[in-house]
Amino acid sequence: WRRLSSGLKRTSASIGGAIADLVTKRKLDHAVIEELEEALIRADLGIETAVAIAGKVGEGRYDKQVSADEVKAILAEEVEKILVPVAKPLVIDAARKPFVVLVVGVNGSGKTTTIGKLAARLTAEGRKVVLAAGDTFRAAAIEQLKIWGTRTGSPVIAGAQGGDAASLAFEALEAARTRAADVLIVDTAGRLQNKTALMGELEKIVRVMRKVDATAPHAVLLVLDATVGQNALSQVEVFSKIAGVTGLVMTKLDGTARGGILVAVAAKFGLPVHFIGVGEGVDDLSPFAAKDFARAVAG
Ligand code: GDP
Repeated sequence: WRRLSSGLKRTSASIGGAIADLVTKRKLDHAVIEELEEALIRADLGIETAVAIAGKVGEGRYDKQVSADEVKAILAEEVEKILVPVAKPLVIDAARKPFVVLVVGVNGSGKTTTIGKLAARLTAEGRKVVLAAGDTFRAAAIEQLKIWGTRTGSPVIAGAQGGDAASLAFEALEAARTRAADVLIVDTAGRLQNKTALMGELEKIVRVMRKVDATAPHAVLLVLDATVGQNALSQVEVFSKIAGVTGLVMTKLDGTARGGILVAVAAKFGLPVHFIGVGEGVDDLSPFAAKDFARAVAG
């Protein structure tokens, strides 16, 4: 909880601060409700959600003096209601060996870092993890994944920069089988500039892996950068279409006052949220907990 609340402190300070300013020595009226709506929209909760929540705060309280704590409690409760249905752990099915996790998302969203953190977590749970450096586009991505591999004791299957990502994924899946790995995590390039090429590449990775295991991939994680704000919504749309996303990870929540975007994404798509990133360190990947997140957001 401490890591989460400190990670989200910019968002909570912004929302909490706005609420405190709003209700100080004022009775609740339309103007206050409107200002509350605006504060929630600024935190990227999305217009519909902001209006609904502000409306809820108003219910039965017009012309009354309300405290900031009261407003925060209602906000937390409403946000929690939206988040509870999407807060789902990433379940590794032990019957799938290896359980194949394909990680997608635009460049810079935090895919490689998230893979490293996830490998550390799974390894600590006693699982054998293999990593595939499928972002063959950027040499730095391959190097970065190798560093995480060394740090977490996970073998990294990598090829040359510019190599074919699908053949690498194929090789990695075979290698993971040979090594009796529990989990294979496959990094990918996220060049959204060319959607057709990206779609072709992701489809080919899936097709080729299915030659080794017809049920792969068993999870497709979309990594979203919270600092991109409302853009996250269109990224979910695009990647859901081209990659069959099964769950989300939202990173960099520590770097933004607009962490409400996670609430907007949850309200709009209802996709499972497995983890959130609240820093660059190996321990800064938290399983997503609806109540804690809602409390942290409410300030
Ligand atoms: P990729 O291109 O999607 O693989 O993205 P990277 O994993 O290379 O991450 C891009 C940058 O974001 C790196 O500098 C990471 O250290 C940083 N990053 C990733 N996740 C987080 C996070 O949760 N919080 C912060 N503050 N930085 C992060």
